[in-house]
Amino acid sequence: MSSVRGDDAAYRPLIWRRNVRAWPDNVVHLWRRSLRFRTIAVTLVLSTLAILIAVTWTALAIQDDLFASRRDEVLLDAQRATIDAQTTLDSADTQGESSQIQSVWGGVRTTLYQQSSSDMIATFRIGEPSAAVDFSIGDFDTSIISEGLRQSVQADAGQQWWQSVALDASGTPGIVVGQQLIFPQVGAFEVYFAYDLAGASQTLGFVQATLWVVGVALVVLIGVIAWFVLRSVTTPIGEAALTSAKLASGDLAVRLPVRGEDELATLGQSFNAMADSIEKQIKELADLSLVQQRFVSDVSHELRTPLTTIRLAADMLNDRREEFDPATARAAELLSAQVERFEVLLGDLLEISRYDAGSVQLELEPTSLAQLAEDVIGQMEQVAEQHGSEVRVVAPGGYSPVDMDPRRVRRILRNLVGNAIEHGEGKPIVVTVDSNQNAVAVGVRDFGMGIREEHLEHVFDRFWRADPSRKRTLGGTGLGLAISLGDARLHGGDLTVWSRPGAGSHFVLTLPRHAAGLNGPSPIRLDPGEEGTLESFEHTQPIVTVRPAEHRPDAPEEGGVA
Ligand code: ADP
Repeated sequence: MSSVRGDDAAYRPLIWRRNVRAWPDNVVHLWRRSLRFRTIAVTLVLSTLAILIAVTWTALAIQDDLFASRRDEVLLDAQRATIDAQTTLDSADTQGESSQIQSVWGGVRTTLYQQSSSDMIATFRIGEPSAAVDFSIGDFDTSIISEGLRQSVQADAGQQWWQSVALDASGTPGIVVGQQLIFPQVGAFEVYFAYDLAGASQTLGFVQATLWVVGVALVVLIGVIAWFVLRSVTTPIGEAALTSAKLASGDLAVRLPVRGEDELATLGQSFNAMADSIEKQIKELADLSLVQQRFVSDVSHELRTPLTTIRLAADMLNDRREEFDPATARAAELLSAQVERFEVLLGDLLEISRYDAGSVQLELEPTSLAQLAEDVIGQMEQVAEQHGSEVRVVAPGGYSPVDMDPRRVRRILRNLVGNAIEHGEGKPIVVTVDSNQNAVAVGVRDFGMGIREEHLEHVFDRFWRADPSRKRTLGGTGLGLAISLGDARLHGGDLTVWSRPGAGSHFVLTLPRHAAGLNGPSPIRLDPGEEGTLESFEHTQPIVTVRPAEHRPDAPEEGGVA
């Protein structure tokens, strides 16, 4: 996280905005990386959904129930008051006198007011006006009674009707109940009672608010519980993942702590047993490998002394072969050649055992790779001539000195050029040297038989040869490329190969300019592509050309070093 200087508050909104913009990415990252985050998020979303549905459903059910019970209550209340008033009217004997009618009507008004719990009552005469005039008790705005309700009441003498209304402009909820009153000898009246439901609405609001608070608290509680439960599972899983990674990276001594007897403890025990077994087997293999390395090294060393004696004797016999009969002379010649091969093999074996023992030291000195390549090719001129191959050097770069062990790089080049000559079928061989900011490289391209695709991955294996029975004229222990790759890696560089059967091969050795190692592409393209055909090379201007004697031009400048 970036730090903010205390005195420079102007940076703050900027960072905040950047952080906000990074949120979606952070959440996606967390979702993919953290099992705990994912499980808690899913638990919270699902439980929030479930609680939302449950709370809404409960709130609606309570609302319905509360309204229904209050409605029944007010209907009963209005009914009771109306019946009492009707009884008063039925028992009255007014004999049609106005004063009597008014007095009885006054009594009805009192009865209605006393018997009902509503303080808003109104009556309307149905038909002609009479001595019993319409009245309205309380703060009753009779315009809230809808025309529909009035018509229903007017039409049906025995039925009670009701309607939900807003009692005032502020929308106080209420119910208006209407019914008919029959005044014998006078006529029918509509009587309406208005009831205030604000109290019930308040109760409902309180209940709903409580439900929502409980719902939110439940979601938080579920989240906290999920976090704690998950922690008890994911912490050991995280530990196991970390320990496995350490084991995989070679730290064979790591083990998982085993607590209790549950499934996680069983996992820990199995993991530890596996780690024990791996450690034991690797140790056994390492011991065995050490014994083998020592054996190869010891045998190679032990063989050197007798081999030197044999070599001297073979050379002596070979030198005097003219004195022998032809069969013995041939045997002396063969003996000398095979002893030479034996010496090369022994030298390679000793080198390989030095790699295995990790006792190889580079002797670095600033060296020009281009000049080294020219040097090696010059030395191999004779062999190239014998095979009828022309070796060209194309060196656009690689002259400036780079730290390397020239003895080893020379050996790599000798091996690559030697292989190219041996497998190049007498066609030209092109050695390219080039460099870039990070590396210097040399590519050895031949147009010979090439290597089959299935063999390509084995060319750097020890003792591997495409055709072990093939006639061998140049060393040929099968260790050459293995040693070359070892030398290249020791420099922090690489040795790579491209090859097509019939089109030839291209080996590229890349060495880093600096001790930091290779960190970019090689200056020489491994796949030679269209420009890498034999025809395209016919047009190149070689900087050095080593040709077989019979093709060598008389003019010396064509073979000069640039
Ligand atoms: P060797 O001593 O046999 O040359 P190397 O390790 O140098 O051993 O090479 C291993 C094998 O790789 C060779 O035997 C040969 O089959 C194959 N190989 C190497 N270079 C080439 C090449 N330029 N063209 C074709 N095959 C090659």
